[in-house]
Amino acid sequence: MSYHDRLQHNLAEVQGRMQAAAQQAGRAPGAVRLVAVTKGHPLEALQALQALGVTDIGESYLNEARQKQQSLDGAGMAWHMIGHVQSRKAREVAQHFSIVHSLDSLRLAERLHRFAVELGLRLPVLLECNVSGEITKQGWKCHEDAGEFLADAQVISDLDGLELRGLMSMAPITARPAEARPYFERARRLRDTLAERLGVPLPELSMGMSNDYEAAILEGATMVRIGEGLMGLRPK
Ligand SMILES: *Cc1c(COP(=O)(O)O)cnc(C)c1O
Repeated sequence: MSYHDRLQHNLAEVQGRMQAAAQQAGRAPGAVRLVAVTKGHPLEALQALQALGVTDIGESYLNEARQKQQSLDGAGMAWHMIGHVQSRKAREVAQHFSIVHSLDSLRLAERLHRFAVELGLRLPVLLECNVSGEITKQGWKCHEDAGEFLADAQVISDLDGLELRGLMSMAPITARPAEARPYFERARRLRDTLAERLGVPLPELSMGMSNDYEAAILEGATMVRIGEGLMGLRPK
Protein backbone atom coordinates (compact mmCIF):
# COMPACT_ATOMS: atom_id res chain seq x y z
CA MET A 1 0.00 0.00 0.00
CA SER A 2 1.25 3.49 -0.76
CA TYR A 3 1.93 5.98 2.01
CA HIS A 4 -1.07 7.91 0.83
CA ASP A 5 -3.53 5.03 1.06
CA ARG A 6 -2.27 3.77 4.38
CA LEU A 7 -2.23 7.25 5.90
CA GLN A 8 -5.64 8.09 4.57
CA HIS A 9 -7.03 5.03 6.27
CA ASN A 10 -5.25 5.69 9.58
CA LEU A 11 -6.06 9.38 9.52
CA ALA A 12 -9.77 8.73 9.14
CA GLU A 13 -9.66 6.37 12.09
CA VAL A 14 -7.68 8.70 14.34
CA GLN A 15 -9.84 11.69 13.48
CA GLY A 16 -12.98 9.68 14.12
CA ARG A 17 -11.74 8.54 17.52
CA MET A 18 -10.63 12.07 18.41
CA GLN A 19 -14.06 13.41 17.56
CA ALA A 20 -15.83 10.70 19.51
CA ALA A 21 -13.70 11.41 22.58
CA ALA A 22 -14.29 15.16 22.27
CA GLN A 23 -17.99 14.56 21.99
CA GLN A 24 -17.99 12.26 25.00
CA ALA A 25 -16.30 15.03 26.98
CA GLY A 26 -18.83 17.58 25.77
CA ARG A 27 -16.19 19.47 23.85
CA ALA A 28 -16.43 20.95 20.36
CA PRO A 29 -15.27 18.59 17.58
CA GLY A 30 -12.55 21.08 16.58
CA ALA A 31 -11.26 21.56 20.13
CA VAL A 32 -8.37 19.16 19.69
CA ARG A 33 -5.57 19.51 17.16
CA LEU A 34 -3.79 16.51 15.70
CA VAL A 35 0.00 16.78 15.64
CA ALA A 36 1.38 14.09 13.35
CA VAL A 37 4.64 12.79 14.82
CA THR A 38 6.90 11.97 11.90
CA LYS A 39 10.25 11.29 13.56
CA GLY A 40 11.95 8.37 11.87
CA HIS A 41 9.70 8.61 8.80
CA PRO A 42 11.00 9.73 5.42
CA LEU A 43 10.08 12.75 3.39
CA GLU A 44 7.51 10.81 1.36
CA ALA A 45 5.47 10.28 4.50
CA LEU A 46 5.37 14.02 5.13
CA GLN A 47 4.41 14.71 1.54
CA ALA A 48 1.56 12.23 1.87
CA LEU A 49 0.39 13.92 5.07
CA GLN A 50 0.55 17.28 3.37
CA ALA A 51 -1.57 15.97 0.48
CA LEU A 52 -4.14 14.78 3.02
CA GLY A 53 -4.34 18.22 4.59
CA VAL A 54 -2.39 17.51 7.78
CA THR A 55 -0.48 20.67 8.60
CA ASP A 56 0.84 20.13 12.13
CA ILE A 57 4.05 18.11 12.17
CA GLY A 58 5.84 16.97 15.35
CA GLU A 59 9.53 16.20 15.25
CA SER A 60 11.88 15.23 18.08
CA TYR A 61 15.30 15.75 16.56
CA LEU A 62 16.46 19.06 15.16
CA ASN A 63 18.76 17.73 12.44
CA GLU A 64 16.22 15.30 11.09
CA ALA A 65 13.54 17.99 11.11
CA ARG A 66 15.79 20.52 9.37
CA GLN A 67 16.54 18.09 6.56
CA LYS A 68 12.84 17.55 5.99
CA GLN A 69 12.07 21.24 6.20
CA GLN A 70 14.70 21.98 3.59
CA SER A 71 13.42 19.31 1.20
CA LEU A 72 9.72 19.99 1.56
CA ASP A 73 7.69 22.81 0.16
CA GLY A 74 6.52 23.64 3.64
CA ALA A 75 4.02 26.37 2.88
CA GLY A 76 1.25 26.23 5.42
CA MET A 77 2.99 23.67 7.62
CA ALA A 78 3.46 24.20 11.35
CA TRP A 79 6.50 22.49 12.85
CA HIS A 80 6.24 21.42 16.47
CA MET A 81 9.40 20.59 18.42
CA ILE A 82 8.45 17.79 20.80
CA GLY A 83 11.86 16.39 21.77
CA HIS A 84 14.44 17.49 24.29
CA VAL A 85 16.28 20.58 23.03
CA GLN A 86 19.97 20.91 23.77
CA SER A 87 20.95 24.41 24.82
CA ARG A 88 23.40 24.81 21.97
CA LYS A 89 20.59 24.10 19.50
CA ALA A 90 18.27 26.71 20.97
CA ARG A 91 18.90 29.32 18.29
CA GLU A 92 18.03 26.98 15.42
CA VAL A 93 14.96 25.73 17.22
CA ALA A 94 13.72 29.28 17.86
CA GLN A 95 14.26 30.06 14.20
CA HIS A 96 12.70 27.03 12.56
CA PHE A 97 9.79 25.85 14.71
CA SER A 98 6.30 27.28 15.19
CA ILE A 99 6.08 26.04 18.75
CA VAL A 100 8.19 24.16 21.31
CA HIS A 101 6.24 21.62 23.38
CA SER A 102 9.29 20.35 25.22
CA LEU A 103 10.56 23.36 27.12
CA ASP A 104 11.95 21.59 30.16
CA SER A 105 14.20 23.99 32.09
CA LEU A 106 14.60 27.60 33.05
CA ARG A 107 18.03 27.61 31.44
CA LEU A 108 16.63 26.52 28.08
CA ALA A 109 13.82 29.06 28.41
CA GLU A 110 16.34 31.85 28.90
CA ARG A 111 18.29 30.79 25.82
CA LEU A 112 15.22 30.44 23.61
CA HIS A 113 14.05 33.83 24.84
CA ARG A 114 17.37 35.46 24.02
CA PHE A 115 17.48 34.08 20.48
CA ALA A 116 13.81 34.82 19.86
CA VAL A 117 14.40 38.44 20.84
CA GLU A 118 17.42 38.58 18.51
CA LEU A 119 15.28 37.15 15.71
CA GLY A 120 12.52 39.63 16.48
CA LEU A 121 9.91 37.02 17.29
CA ARG A 122 7.85 35.70 20.13
CA LEU A 123 8.14 31.94 20.28
CA PRO A 124 5.12 29.96 21.52
CA VAL A 125 6.17 27.43 24.15
CA LEU A 126 4.67 24.78 26.40
CA LEU A 127 6.25 23.75 29.69
CA GLU A 128 6.99 20.05 29.94
CA CYS A 129 5.81 18.57 33.21
CA ASN A 130 6.72 15.16 34.49
CA VAL A 131 3.53 14.16 36.27
CA SER A 132 4.34 10.46 36.47
CA GLY A 133 7.57 10.61 38.42
CA GLU A 134 9.25 8.24 35.98
CA ILE A 135 12.94 9.06 35.85
CA THR A 136 13.03 8.38 32.12
CA LYS A 137 10.78 11.36 31.45
CA GLN A 138 12.02 14.89 30.86
CA GLY A 139 10.56 18.00 32.34
CA TRP A 140 9.97 19.59 35.71
CA LYS A 141 9.21 17.21 38.52
CA CYS A 142 5.51 17.68 39.07
CA HIS A 143 4.28 14.37 40.41
CA GLU A 144 4.22 15.33 44.08
CA ASP A 145 5.34 18.86 44.84
CA ALA A 146 5.22 21.25 41.92
CA GLY A 147 6.70 24.20 43.81
CA GLU A 148 9.84 24.51 41.74
CA PHE A 149 7.86 24.20 38.54
CA LEU A 150 5.47 26.97 39.53
CA ALA A 151 8.34 29.23 40.56
CA ASP A 152 10.26 28.69 37.31
CA ALA A 153 7.08 29.11 35.28
CA GLN A 154 6.56 32.49 36.90
CA VAL A 155 10.01 33.61 35.75
CA ILE A 156 9.47 32.18 32.26
CA SER A 157 6.16 33.99 31.86
CA ASP A 158 8.06 37.28 32.13
CA LEU A 159 10.45 36.48 29.26
CA ASP A 160 9.12 38.53 26.40
CA GLY A 161 10.75 36.42 23.67
CA LEU A 162 8.47 33.58 24.71
CA GLU A 163 4.72 33.25 24.56
CA LEU A 164 3.72 30.82 27.28
CA ARG A 165 0.76 28.84 25.91
CA GLY A 166 0.35 25.93 28.29
CA LEU A 167 1.74 22.57 29.37
CA MET A 168 2.95 19.37 27.77
CA SER A 169 2.81 16.08 29.59
CA MET A 170 2.99 12.33 29.24
CA ALA A 171 1.44 9.45 31.10
CA PRO A 172 3.36 6.27 31.87
CA ILE A 173 2.97 3.60 29.22
CA THR A 174 0.32 1.29 30.61
CA ALA A 175 -1.46 -1.69 29.20
CA ARG A 176 -4.77 -0.04 29.90
CA PRO A 177 -5.08 3.50 28.55
CA ALA A 178 -7.80 4.37 31.09
CA GLU A 179 -5.07 4.22 33.74
CA ALA A 180 -3.45 7.22 32.10
CA ARG A 181 -6.33 9.52 32.97
CA PRO A 182 -5.24 10.55 36.47
CA TYR A 183 -1.91 11.75 35.05
CA PHE A 184 -3.63 13.85 32.44
CA GLU A 185 -5.97 15.17 35.08
CA ARG A 186 -2.99 16.19 37.15
CA ALA A 187 -1.50 18.08 34.20
CA ARG A 188 -4.78 19.90 33.63
CA ARG A 189 -5.02 20.91 37.28
CA LEU A 190 -1.45 22.17 37.22
CA ARG A 191 -2.25 24.23 34.16
CA ASP A 192 -5.28 25.68 35.93
CA THR A 193 -3.23 26.50 39.03
CA LEU A 194 -0.52 28.17 36.99
CA ALA A 195 -2.99 30.15 34.87
CA GLU A 196 -4.65 31.41 38.01
CA ARG A 197 -1.35 32.42 39.60
CA LEU A 198 -0.14 34.20 36.51
CA GLY A 199 -3.51 35.73 35.76
CA VAL A 200 -3.28 34.71 32.11
CA PRO A 201 -5.08 32.06 30.10
CA LEU A 202 -2.89 29.07 29.28
CA PRO A 203 -5.08 27.51 26.62
CA GLU A 204 -2.95 24.61 25.44
CA LEU A 205 -2.55 21.13 26.89
CA SER A 206 -0.37 18.90 24.73
CA MET A 207 -1.02 15.39 25.96
CA GLY A 208 -1.98 12.04 24.57
CA MET A 209 -0.07 9.76 22.22
CA SER A 210 -1.10 6.79 20.08
CA ASN A 211 -1.97 4.55 22.99
CA ASP A 212 -3.77 7.04 25.24
CA TYR A 213 -5.04 10.03 23.27
CA GLU A 214 -8.69 9.43 24.00
CA ALA A 215 -8.03 9.50 27.75
CA ALA A 216 -6.11 12.74 27.26
CA ILE A 217 -8.96 14.32 25.29
CA LEU A 218 -11.38 13.37 28.04
CA GLU A 219 -9.13 15.33 30.43
CA GLY A 220 -8.88 18.40 28.25
CA ALA A 221 -6.02 17.88 25.79
CA THR A 222 -5.98 20.52 23.05
CA MET A 223 -3.17 18.87 21.08
CA VAL A 224 -2.51 15.16 20.73
CA ARG A 225 0.86 13.95 19.42
CA ILE A 226 0.33 10.81 17.41
CA GLY A 227 3.06 8.79 15.77
CA GLU A 228 2.58 5.08 15.28
CA GLY A 229 -1.20 5.17 15.38
CA LEU A 230 -1.13 7.38 12.32
CA MET A 231 2.15 6.68 10.54
CA GLY A 232 2.54 2.98 11.28
CA LEU A 233 5.60 1.53 12.93
CA ARG A 234 8.68 3.70 12.77
CA PRO A 235 11.22 2.33 10.30
CA LYS A 236 14.30 1.09 12.12
C1 LIG B 1 7.49 9.82 19.56
C2 LIG B 1 6.69 10.75 20.39
C3 LIG B 1 5.28 10.80 20.31
C4 LIG B 1 4.47 9.84 19.45
O1 LIG B 1 4.46 8.59 20.04
P1 LIG B 1 3.55 7.42 19.44
O2 LIG B 1 3.47 6.42 20.53
O3 LIG B 1 4.26 6.90 18.24
O4 LIG B 1 2.24 8.01 19.11
C5 LIG B 1 4.62 11.75 21.07
N1 LIG B 1 5.28 12.60 21.87
C6 LIG B 1 6.62 12.58 21.99
C7 LIG B 1 7.27 13.55 22.89
C8 LIG B 1 7.37 11.65 21.26
O5 LIG B 1 8.69 11.64 21.39
